[in-house]
Amino acid sequence: MQEVLQGWFFVILGLSVGSFLNVVIDRLAYGKSILGRSQCDFCEKKLGLLDLIPVLSYILLLGKCRYCGKKLSIYYPLIEIVTAVVFFLGFRFFGYDYFRLFVILAIFSSFIVIFFTDLKYYVIPDEVQLFLLLFSFIYKFNCTQSCLFYGFQLFFSSLVSGFFVALPLLFLFYITKGKGLGFGDVKLGFNLGFLFGVKSGFLVLYLAFLLGGVLSVFLLISGRKNLKAKIPFGPFIVVSSFLFILVPDVILFYIRKFLFFI
Ligand SMILES: [Zn+2]
Repeated sequence: MQEVLQGWFFVILGLSVGSFLNVVIDRLAYGKSILGRSQCDFCEKKLGLLDLIPVLSYILLLGKCRYCGKKLSIYYPLIEIVTAVVFFLGFRFFGYDYFRLFVILAIFSSFIVIFFTDLKYYVIPDEVQLFLLLFSFIYKFNCTQSCLFYGFQLFFSSLVSGFFVALPLLFLFYITKGKGLGFGDVKLGFNLGFLFGVKSGFLVLYLAFLLGGVLSVFLLISGRKNLKAKIPFGPFIVVSSFLFILVPDVILFYIRKFLFFI
């Protein structure tokens, strides 16, 4: 019973955080401050409390602004629901240690922001990359004694791992002249190495390329995108990182099937 209640708590927390992440995604992409009250994208009317209930407001208002009647983006309820699902999964997998769960939910929240800013606007804001870097450090920090020395050591080894994992992306960035990959992806690759270390960082990157390749081929064949279409890479890095944190054994099992020399 208690576990059911806790599960619901994380669903509702996820819905509320998702509502906040919507604001973060739209404002950071335009370089605006994330503080201040929400307003309608079209008529710029400040929204009241009743317009801000996650998912429910959207359903009750039939997906339209109460003031000007314009159709609201489906991204709003979608991001709230995605965040709720992600928070619930986080609780199911890491609910045994609340501090660890808190750090992981912070990392997952930055994943959601990266996924949707890249998908909606083709940018990955530096603010969210730094936020992810900070919580990656806390996630890895596991100190019993002489923490200052340990902290420095961990920081520098993580930096080095970050550079290694960012290198192939930097190379792709240069040979495609920034058209295949953005510099935001290179920085995200750095974050990946920083968070997972060199070996796992490369595995996650490899999985992201696999996912990206499969989806691109599917989009091409089904005629939904042509060869010139821009497909952001950030979402694939996010999805494979998310899976690697949640179910590393499953990912390793499947990667070994494709890449037998590991
Ligand atoms: Zn409006």
